[in-house]
Amino acid sequence: MAVPLPDSVDYVLLDEDTIQQRVQALADQISADYAGIHHEDFILVGVLKGSFIFLADLARRLTVPHRVDFIALSSYAAGTEAGGTVRLIMDTRTDLTEHHVLIVEDIIDSGHTLDYLQRLFQTRHPASLRSCVLLSKPDRREIEFQVDYLGFEIPDVWVVGYGLDYADRFRTLPYIAALKPSVYS
Ligand code: 5GP
Ligand code: MG
Repeated sequence: MAVPLPDSVDYVLLDEDTIQQRVQALADQISADYAGIHHEDFILVGVLKGSFIFLADLARRLTVPHRVDFIALSSYAAGTEAGGTVRLIMDTRTDLTEHHVLIVEDIIDSGHTLDYLQRLFQTRHPASLRSCVLLSKPDRREIEFQVDYLGFEIPDVWVVGYGLDYADRFRTLPYIAALKPSVYS
């Protein structure tokens, strides 16, 4: 029997199978592109907290050796309102110099977070720098950003589940769902 949706959830946008199939396809593509790179040199940098489940699934499907690190940023107040500036909360433990760095992010919205991260990481002179992003809301972009590996384009609705939250809730739902607008408006 299907587990009922939480009250705050409007509808499921991407179900578990759809997500897992796309994550496998992304992992296949990344594994092919990074084949032959030494494991010491290839590092996935997950952006906390939203990317933790995506990164865990993606990393375990890679067939190329790699390391994992994390960074924590903040660009939003609790809830769903956008903020202008991005703050660095926690840096990586690894020195990224001369490493092949793949940023793993949950969603690109205005583009400010990834733009900030790309600028920050470029100052560390990585051997290469690419991004893998599960979701994109193209209608919301304020700044141009080239995503190298993208999971899905979605409409301008607030989504939760598969790592994504609303006020730190709903992160462990196995699917990606739209929140009822009444919850956040
Ligand atoms: P950007 O800087 O591109 O505007 O925003 C990126 C960040 O906004 C994401 O990392 C994520 O934390 C947050 N974000 C944007 N849209 C959503 C959404 O629909 N749901 C959730 N949970 N977070 C979102
Ligand atoms: Mg995020």
